[in-house]
Amino acid sequence: MTSRVFGKSSVEAQQRETERLAALESLDLLDTPRDAGFDRIVNLIKEIFTVDIGLVTLIDAHRQWYKSCSGLPSDEVPRGDTFCRHVVDCEEAVVVQDASKDPRFSQHPAVTGDTHIRFYAGVPLTTKDGHIIGTVCAIDRRPRSFSDRDVGLLHELAALAMDRIELLQSAATDSLTEALTRRAFKQEAEQLISLALRHQHDLSCLTLDIDYFKKVNDTYGHAAGDAVLKRVAATCKAALRAGDLFGRLGGEEFAIILPHVNRESAAAVAEKIRELIASRPIDGDFGALDVTASFGVSTLTLVSKDIETLLAQADAAMYQAKHEGRKRCVSWASLQAAQGTGSRRRVLKAGTIVFNDRRSSIDCTVKSFGSDSAGLQVSSSAGIPSEFVLSIKGEGFETRCHVIAQDRQHLEVAFR
Ligand code: GH3
Ligand code: MG
Ligand code: MG
Repeated sequence: MTSRVFGKSSVEAQQRETERLAALESLDLLDTPRDAGFDRIVNLIKEIFTVDIGLVTLIDAHRQWYKSCSGLPSDEVPRGDTFCRHVVDCEEAVVVQDASKDPRFSQHPAVTGDTHIRFYAGVPLTTKDGHIIGTVCAIDRRPRSFSDRDVGLLHELAALAMDRIELLQSAATDSLTEALTRRAFKQEAEQLISLALRHQHDLSCLTLDIDYFKKVNDTYGHAAGDAVLKRVAATCKAALRAGDLFGRLGGEEFAIILPHVNRESAAAVAEKIRELIASRPIDGDFGALDVTASFGVSTLTLVSKDIETLLAQADAAMYQAKHEGRKRCVSWASLQAAQGTGSRRRVLKAGTIVFNDRRSSIDCTVKSFGSDSAGLQVSSSAGIPSEFVLSIKGEGFETRCHVIAQDRQHLEVAFR
């Protein structure tokens, strides 16, 4: 391990960033489904300020993810490229009347290119404890002014967004699929896990992610995507027992807890649901769509005995299933046997991928972490070599890694 020396202010900034990420992690909002409440706030921003673009964003270690967005095509952008990064860095509102005349932004691709951003106003989205987890912004393609009163109004809308975040913490089900929300799923899963540990019975966890779901949205529209989500959720629920838990972890990712089910039976349940989804085309105005999903399976053991560990391990297996060609089930146990990896927990930490003799580096978010392996999220895995150094900022952790599985935005790595 290499140690580095940082200046005091840099150490303080890193500490604040670590705390900020911990606050974001505890809310567990990243990659959660769309929500009409945030969409209303974004539409209000556009109405009140007569601007082209409204955003409610969350900022993790490597990207800005849009909890709600109107007027821009993507779901997220790399953090380094964003105007909002400045709001988090200086911890206050940032107003840019004409980005083409501002030396900080005039060469930005969103200013020089087709997106043609000119005006930007962003305020921090701040938790009750004072951590800035994201931003609320009004953006326009024409230069304009923004009064102190306008800044005050945008702060009010950010407070509304924060109220909505707090309200959502108590929501138990997802309105589209009627699956448990991620938070409710985890809470109930913890109860089932403690029962299983106390009475020494089996328990297993499945995660599933629909294959090539983005293509459904892009080809047939969002309504078709929503119909697919509903049908896949209904298929899963119909195949489960009353005592099983079914939750929606994010966009097209679901999780299942199977109490009293051991590793072999869990793999059989996963395979049954996988076949059910694959064997029934989903029909609607868009025609009949063949949909498949990839599954990961993990099982309660004496070392893997909390929901964060079970989900991290099922997820790692699920990414391996994607890596092997999708539409299949992989269990953590087989992954572990093949690669000899130890257990793994879900985390949210700021990491850097360093390669090319330390000349190149890419920010990442460490999503799961164990003694000999980790799961990393990046804006794009293109161009990242199969071996690199992973450094976790603020923890002095640095180690050589090699990639064992990857997709567009995810890397599974083993430590050397
Ligand atoms: P892979 O096979 O690797 O899983 O690829 P994928 O296309 O399924 O995965 P990716 O993560 O690239 O795309 C997921 C898409 O799901 C992107 C996002 O816009 C969409 N999405 C997320 N939530 C919703 C929702 O509630 N409704 C609809 N229609 N789409 C959603
Ligand atoms: Mg998918
Ligand atoms: Mg996914």
